[in-house]
Amino acid sequence: MIVRRSPAELEKLRRSGLLVYQILERLKFMVAEGVTTQELDAEAEKMISDAGARPAFKGYSSHVSTAKFPYALCASVNEEVVHGMPSGKRRLKPGDIVSLDTGVQLEGYFGDSAITVPVGEVNDSVKRLLHVTEESLELAIDRVRNGNRLFDICGAVEKHVTSNGFSIVREFVGHGIGTSLHEEPQIPNYVDRRGENPRLKPGMVLAIEPMVNAGKPETKVLADRWTAVTKDKSYSAHFEHMVAVTENGPWVLTRP
Ligand code: MG
Ligand code: MG
Repeated sequence: MIVRRSPAELEKLRRSGLLVYQILERLKFMVAEGVTTQELDAEAEKMISDAGARPAFKGYSSHVSTAKFPYALCASVNEEVVHGMPSGKRRLKPGDIVSLDTGVQLEGYFGDSAITVPVGEVNDSVKRLLHVTEESLELAIDRVRNGNRLFDICGAVEKHVTSNGFSIVREFVGHGIGTSLHEEPQIPNYVDRRGENPRLKPGMVLAIEPMVNAGKPETKVLADRWTAVTKDKSYSAHFEHMVAVTENGPWVLTRP
Protein backbone atom coordinates (compact mmCIF):
# COMPACT_ATOMS: atom_id res chain seq x y z
CA MET A 1 0.00 0.00 0.00
CA ILE A 2 1.25 3.48 -0.87
CA VAL A 3 0.62 5.89 2.01
CA ARG A 4 -1.03 9.22 1.18
CA ARG A 5 0.17 12.02 3.46
CA SER A 6 -2.03 14.76 4.88
CA PRO A 7 -1.17 18.43 4.21
CA ALA A 8 0.28 18.66 7.75
CA GLU A 9 2.48 15.61 7.09
CA LEU A 10 3.61 17.06 3.76
CA GLU A 11 4.74 20.18 5.62
CA LYS A 12 6.87 17.99 7.92
CA LEU A 13 8.36 16.17 4.94
CA ARG A 14 9.02 19.58 3.41
CA ARG A 15 11.04 20.62 6.48
CA SER A 16 13.11 17.41 6.25
CA GLY A 17 13.51 17.90 2.50
CA LEU A 18 14.77 21.46 2.86
CA LEU A 19 17.28 20.41 5.52
CA VAL A 20 18.72 17.84 3.12
CA TYR A 21 18.80 20.51 0.39
CA GLN A 22 20.77 22.88 2.64
CA ILE A 23 23.28 20.16 3.52
CA LEU A 24 23.85 19.22 -0.12
CA GLU A 25 24.28 22.88 -1.09
CA ARG A 26 26.92 23.27 1.62
CA LEU A 27 28.74 20.07 0.60
CA LYS A 28 28.66 21.06 -3.07
CA PHE A 29 30.40 24.30 -2.09
CA MET A 30 33.04 22.32 -0.12
CA VAL A 31 33.88 19.89 -2.92
CA ALA A 32 37.38 20.74 -4.20
CA GLU A 33 40.77 19.21 -4.92
CA GLY A 34 42.29 17.71 -1.75
CA VAL A 35 39.07 17.52 0.29
CA THR A 36 38.37 14.09 1.78
CA THR A 37 34.97 12.44 1.68
CA GLN A 38 35.27 12.04 5.47
CA GLU A 39 35.34 15.85 5.83
CA LEU A 40 32.14 16.03 3.80
CA ASP A 41 30.54 13.39 6.02
CA ALA A 42 31.54 15.25 9.18
CA GLU A 43 29.97 18.47 7.90
CA ALA A 44 26.75 16.64 6.96
CA GLU A 45 26.52 15.03 10.39
CA LYS A 46 27.17 18.37 12.13
CA MET A 47 24.47 20.16 10.14
CA ILE A 48 21.99 17.35 10.84
CA SER A 49 22.59 17.39 14.58
CA ASP A 50 22.59 21.24 14.71
CA ALA A 51 19.11 21.10 13.15
CA GLY A 52 17.89 18.72 15.86
CA ALA A 53 17.55 15.89 13.33
CA ARG A 54 19.00 12.39 13.11
CA PRO A 55 21.18 11.09 10.25
CA ALA A 56 18.88 8.60 8.54
CA PHE A 57 21.66 6.55 6.96
CA LYS A 58 23.82 6.12 10.09
CA GLY A 59 23.17 2.68 11.55
CA TYR A 60 20.91 1.76 8.63
CA SER A 61 20.73 -1.88 7.59
CA SER A 62 18.41 -3.66 5.19
CA HIS A 63 17.56 -7.06 3.85
CA VAL A 64 20.17 -6.41 1.15
CA SER A 65 22.99 -5.53 3.53
CA THR A 66 22.62 -6.49 7.20
CA ALA A 67 25.84 -4.55 7.96
CA LYS A 68 25.06 -1.23 9.62
CA PHE A 69 26.05 1.77 7.48
CA PRO A 70 28.36 3.84 9.74
CA TYR A 71 28.04 7.34 8.20
CA ALA A 72 25.59 10.21 7.68
CA LEU A 73 26.63 10.57 4.04
CA CYS A 74 27.07 8.23 1.11
CA ALA A 75 29.97 9.58 -0.97
CA SER A 76 30.45 7.64 -4.20
CA VAL A 77 33.43 8.64 -6.35
CA ASN A 78 33.76 7.97 -10.11
CA GLU A 79 32.95 4.27 -10.73
CA GLU A 80 31.20 4.03 -7.36
CA VAL A 81 27.47 4.05 -8.05
CA VAL A 82 25.84 4.43 -4.62
CA HIS A 83 26.48 3.70 -0.93
CA GLY A 84 30.15 4.76 -1.08
CA MET A 85 31.85 4.90 2.32
CA PRO A 86 33.35 8.26 3.31
CA SER A 87 37.09 7.95 3.95
CA GLY A 88 39.84 10.10 5.46
CA LYS A 89 42.25 8.70 2.88
CA ARG A 90 40.26 9.46 -0.23
CA ARG A 91 41.18 12.96 -1.36
CA LEU A 92 39.18 14.31 -4.26
CA LYS A 93 41.18 15.26 -7.33
CA PRO A 94 40.42 17.23 -10.49
CA GLY A 95 38.47 15.16 -13.01
CA ASP A 96 36.69 13.14 -10.32
CA ILE A 97 32.96 13.15 -9.82
CA VAL A 98 31.43 12.55 -6.40
CA SER A 99 27.84 11.57 -5.72
CA LEU A 100 26.61 12.95 -2.40
CA ASP A 101 23.52 11.26 -0.96
CA THR A 102 22.22 12.04 2.50
CA GLY A 103 19.09 11.51 4.54
CA VAL A 104 17.59 12.94 7.72
CA GLN A 105 14.83 12.12 10.16
CA LEU A 106 13.27 15.27 11.64
CA GLU A 107 10.29 15.00 14.00
CA GLY A 108 9.64 11.50 12.69
CA TYR A 109 9.64 12.39 8.99
CA PHE A 110 12.40 11.53 6.53
CA GLY A 111 14.25 13.54 3.90
CA ASP A 112 16.46 12.04 1.16
CA SER A 113 18.21 13.65 -1.80
CA ALA A 114 21.38 13.22 -3.87
CA ILE A 115 23.53 15.17 -6.31
CA THR A 116 26.64 14.37 -8.32
CA VAL A 117 29.29 17.07 -8.32
CA PRO A 118 32.35 17.44 -10.60
CA VAL A 119 35.72 18.15 -8.96
CA GLY A 120 37.43 20.91 -10.95
CA GLU A 121 37.31 20.43 -14.71
CA VAL A 122 35.89 17.14 -15.96
CA ASN A 123 35.95 16.02 -19.58
CA ASP A 124 33.03 16.59 -21.94
CA SER A 125 31.72 13.01 -21.83
CA VAL A 126 31.57 13.15 -18.03
CA LYS A 127 29.79 16.52 -18.21
CA ARG A 128 27.26 14.94 -20.54
CA LEU A 129 26.74 11.99 -18.15
CA LEU A 130 25.93 14.39 -15.31
CA HIS A 131 23.72 16.55 -17.50
CA VAL A 132 21.70 13.68 -18.97
CA THR A 133 21.20 12.05 -15.55
CA GLU A 134 19.93 15.29 -14.02
CA GLU A 135 17.70 15.92 -17.05
CA SER A 136 16.22 12.43 -16.73
CA LEU A 137 15.27 13.24 -13.13
CA GLU A 138 13.60 16.50 -14.21
CA LEU A 139 11.64 14.69 -16.93
CA ALA A 140 10.52 12.12 -14.35
CA ILE A 141 9.51 14.85 -11.87
CA ASP A 142 7.28 16.36 -14.55
CA ARG A 143 5.36 13.06 -14.70
CA VAL A 144 4.51 13.15 -10.97
CA ARG A 145 0.89 14.15 -11.54
CA ASN A 146 -2.47 13.09 -10.16
CA GLY A 147 -3.83 10.32 -12.40
CA ASN A 148 -0.53 9.40 -14.04
CA ARG A 149 0.96 6.00 -13.29
CA LEU A 150 4.26 4.82 -11.83
CA PHE A 151 5.47 3.59 -15.24
CA ASP A 152 5.18 7.16 -16.57
CA ILE A 153 7.97 8.11 -14.16
CA CYS A 154 10.10 5.02 -14.77
CA GLY A 155 9.67 5.31 -18.54
CA ALA A 156 10.65 9.00 -18.60
CA VAL A 157 14.03 8.18 -17.04
CA GLU A 158 14.58 5.10 -19.17
CA LYS A 159 13.79 6.78 -22.49
CA HIS A 160 16.01 9.81 -21.89
CA VAL A 161 18.99 7.84 -20.57
CA THR A 162 18.99 5.10 -23.19
CA SER A 163 18.36 7.49 -26.10
CA ASN A 164 21.51 9.35 -25.00
CA GLY A 165 23.60 6.17 -25.09
CA PHE A 166 24.01 5.68 -21.33
CA SER A 167 22.84 2.75 -19.25
CA ILE A 168 20.53 2.39 -16.29
CA VAL A 169 21.47 0.66 -13.05
CA ARG A 170 18.88 -2.02 -12.34
CA GLU A 171 19.93 -3.31 -8.92
CA PHE A 172 18.99 -0.12 -7.05
CA VAL A 173 15.74 1.80 -7.27
CA GLY A 174 13.88 4.82 -5.93
CA HIS A 175 11.19 4.52 -3.29
CA GLY A 176 8.28 6.00 -1.44
CA ILE A 177 9.29 7.99 1.67
CA GLY A 178 7.52 9.32 4.75
CA THR A 179 7.72 8.01 8.30
CA SER A 180 10.15 5.37 7.02
CA LEU A 181 13.14 6.03 4.78
CA HIS A 182 12.03 3.39 2.30
CA GLU A 183 8.33 2.83 1.73
CA GLU A 184 6.25 1.49 -1.12
CA PRO A 185 6.36 1.77 -4.05
CA GLN A 186 9.72 0.74 -5.42
CA ILE A 187 10.60 3.08 -8.30
CA PRO A 188 12.91 1.46 -10.85
CA ASN A 189 14.58 3.75 -13.37
CA TYR A 190 13.12 1.62 -16.17
CA VAL A 191 9.72 0.13 -16.85
CA ASP A 192 9.64 -3.21 -15.05
CA ARG A 193 6.52 -4.93 -16.33
CA ARG A 194 6.82 -7.62 -13.65
CA GLY A 195 6.04 -4.91 -11.11
CA GLU A 196 2.81 -3.08 -10.38
CA ASN A 197 1.86 0.15 -12.08
CA PRO A 198 -0.21 2.06 -9.52
CA ARG A 199 -2.02 5.28 -10.31
CA LEU A 200 -0.53 8.37 -8.62
CA LYS A 201 -2.76 10.16 -6.13
CA PRO A 202 -2.40 13.39 -4.12
CA GLY A 203 -0.39 12.94 -0.92
CA MET A 204 1.92 10.24 -2.27
CA VAL A 205 5.62 11.12 -1.81
CA LEU A 206 8.22 9.57 -4.10
CA ALA A 207 12.03 9.62 -3.90
CA ILE A 208 13.04 9.38 -7.56
CA GLU A 209 16.73 8.64 -8.06
CA PRO A 210 18.20 7.81 -11.47
CA MET A 211 21.56 6.00 -11.27
CA VAL A 212 23.21 6.13 -14.66
CA ASN A 213 26.40 4.52 -15.96
CA ALA A 214 28.60 5.83 -18.75
CA GLY A 215 29.38 2.23 -19.75
CA LYS A 216 27.57 -1.02 -19.14
CA PRO A 217 24.69 -1.31 -16.64
CA GLU A 218 26.09 -4.07 -14.42
CA THR A 219 27.19 -3.30 -10.86
CA LYS A 220 28.70 -5.23 -7.97
CA VAL A 221 29.02 -4.60 -4.24
CA LEU A 222 32.55 -4.43 -2.75
CA ALA A 223 33.81 -6.43 0.23
CA ASP A 224 32.79 -3.59 2.60
CA ARG A 225 29.24 -4.85 1.87
CA TRP A 226 27.98 -1.39 0.91
CA THR A 227 29.90 0.33 -1.87
CA ALA A 228 28.33 -0.47 -5.24
CA VAL A 229 30.59 0.01 -8.28
CA THR A 230 30.21 -0.43 -12.02
CA LYS A 231 31.63 -3.77 -13.13
CA ASP A 232 33.38 -2.15 -16.10
CA LYS A 233 34.72 0.71 -13.89
CA SER A 234 32.92 3.33 -15.99
CA TYR A 235 31.76 6.49 -14.22
CA SER A 236 28.31 6.58 -12.68
CA ALA A 237 26.05 9.52 -11.80
CA HIS A 238 23.18 9.80 -9.29
CA PHE A 239 20.61 12.53 -8.67
CA GLU A 240 17.63 12.25 -6.34
CA HIS A 241 14.66 14.38 -5.32
CA MET A 242 11.63 13.76 -3.11
CA VAL A 243 8.47 14.71 -4.93
CA ALA A 244 4.90 14.94 -3.62
CA VAL A 245 1.87 14.39 -5.84
CA THR A 246 -0.51 17.34 -5.44
CA GLU A 247 -3.70 18.53 -7.17
CA ASN A 248 -1.51 21.23 -8.73
CA GLY A 249 1.27 19.04 -10.10
CA PRO A 250 4.63 17.91 -8.73
CA TRP A 251 5.95 19.50 -5.52
CA VAL A 252 9.70 18.94 -5.16
CA LEU A 253 10.27 18.84 -1.41
CA THR A 254 14.07 18.83 -1.60
CA ARG A 255 14.65 22.23 -3.18
CA PRO A 256 13.31 25.74 -2.47
MG1 MG B 1 16.67 7.36 -1.73
MG1 MG C 1 19.27 9.13 -1.20
